[in-house]
Amino acid sequence: MTDSCIFCKIINKEIPSKTIFEDENLFAFHDIAPQAPTHFLVIPKKHIVDIDHTSGEDKALLGEILFRAAEIARSLGLNKEGFRIVNNMGELGGQTVFHLHFHVLGGRQMKWPPG
Ligand code: 5GP
Ligand code: ZN
Repeated sequence: MTDSCIFCKIINKEIPSKTIFEDENLFAFHDIAPQAPTHFLVIPKKHIVDIDHTSGEDKALLGEILFRAAEIARSLGLNKEGFRIVNNMGELGGQTVFHLHFHVLGGRQMKWPPG
């Protein structure tokens, strides 16, 4: 937990969110500014700044995040037509919140290359 971290505050329910899933290690909630008809975030409860700040001890956690992202996507029916999982890292990656998170976007045609 980092006092100033907005996602830590969401995990601790100091800031409300449209929560989709929660367990011991993970939290998933709808993005406040959706970039697709369905747009949710899957985050670890452990405060990790970004994917560059992960270590060997986070391997299982990273696996859990992706597994759960796919499971939630399936539960919302996104798997029928497809969806995208995105992780932004650092300035050039477009990261704005410095608590590791994976975006899951679905419900519209995605473009490639991404912007
Ligand atoms: P990034 O740009 O760091 O990859 O993604 C951060 C995401 O967090 C953005 O899509 C942004 O809309 C979302 N976000 C920022 N603040 C809040 C908040 O208070 N609540 C929710 N639900 N999403 C947030
Ligand atoms: Zn945090």
